[in-house]
Amino acid sequence: SKVDNPYAGAKMYVNPEWSAKAAAEPGGTRVSNQPTGVWLDRTAAINGVNGGMGVRAHLDKALEQKGSGELVIQFVIYNLPGRDCSALASNGELGPTEIDRYKTEYIDKIAEIFRDPKYASLRIATTIEVDSLPNLVTNVSGRDTAVPMCDTMKSNGNYVKGVGYALDVFGGIPNVYNYIDAGHHGWLGWDTNMGPTAELFKTTATSNGAQLSDVTGFIVNTANYSALKEPHFKVTDTVNGTTVRQSKWVDWNYYVDELSYAQAFREKLIQTGFPSNIGFLIDTSRNGWGGSARPTAAGPTTSVDAYVNGGRVDRRIHLGNWCNQSGAGLGERPKASPEPGIDAYVWMKPPGESDGASSVIENDEGKGFDRMCDPTYGGNVRNGNSPSGALANAPLSGKWFSAQFQQLMANAYPPL
Ligand code: BGC
Repeated sequence: SKVDNPYAGAKMYVNPEWSAKAAAEPGGTRVSNQPTGVWLDRTAAINGVNGGMGVRAHLDKALEQKGSGELVIQFVIYNLPGRDCSALASNGELGPTEIDRYKTEYIDKIAEIFRDPKYASLRIATTIEVDSLPNLVTNVSGRDTAVPMCDTMKSNGNYVKGVGYALDVFGGIPNVYNYIDAGHHGWLGWDTNMGPTAELFKTTATSNGAQLSDVTGFIVNTANYSALKEPHFKVTDTVNGTTVRQSKWVDWNYYVDELSYAQAFREKLIQTGFPSNIGFLIDTSRNGWGGSARPTAAGPTTSVDAYVNGGRVDRRIHLGNWCNQSGAGLGERPKASPEPGIDAYVWMKPPGESDGASSVIENDEGKGFDRMCDPTYGGNVRNGNSPSGALANAPLSGKWFSAQFQQLMANAYPPL
């Protein structure tokens, strides 16, 4: 039988591989003992890539770290057919039609290991398929942000089938807790996006064998940079009678930060039919926005733009920027039950791992070159045609990016 919040009263697993990379950086031992997500980003990751740790090795290590208390270990399930349909940096190994391989070679193989009675005392939290379902709402025909591959994945149904299958299979294992990826406020924070996404989550969690009880909750801001809390302005603020929602930065969004977004999305999902005990995770691995550029007070009240831009801690050029953001810092350390409705703050994206290469790099992982990772790019309709804000000299997504890790430490908030 499952507990309501697997993070409550539990230690969190420290991935020794990430920890070693962090510790090898100057100053890295200040954070190398923090728990991070273990990404199963291709079938080979199940057994370990290039001699690295596979699922069993991580679970064995988790048993050691656990001792006599409770421990939660976090895996990211990330290998859908036609993965990353609206971008290129994390395209995967499975083509758009390869749903059967996803089920039998990937999900079933992971589940077989999770089911081993040896691991029954661990709490296993899964993040299910980052950036998948919301793409079927916002990046399809009918929107000016449409991308052909997202239309394909909507019409062939393979994101919905894959996520439903994963929820069903993992949800049936008594010590596995599923969290579905729910974007971030800068993506789904408009009612016209959040409402249809909530409906799609419900449809997905009630078809292909899945049931609502297979879902422990949702995770927001995975591998993104949206601030946890904007301390110097609220969505309800006005400047000389004009709502801040009208500022260029907020752009009519109903939320200005991840905490308010997560709590509202949770209520929306409960209204849509999800059980009232669902909880949210917030990825705070790279949303600290500290350092010398962090504003310490609200902006001037000369205009909504001056007010918002002067006070916001999120220093991105545009909220739609997602790749290796310059100026970002480590956010809140992982911790259980930090706020009402929030199961935990987590570092699901391991800080220091790239979001994508800043120029073309040949590889055998299916990863493409996305210009949102190129600092010289002027953007597209999904980021308001703004510069990408990405750091230069970035390696392929998932690879260690030392310069980024150094900057994340320097700009940590709370500071290290
Ligand atoms: C990459 C994965 C990687 C993950 C965590 C994603 O952007 O595509 O390969 O495992 O980030 O760093």
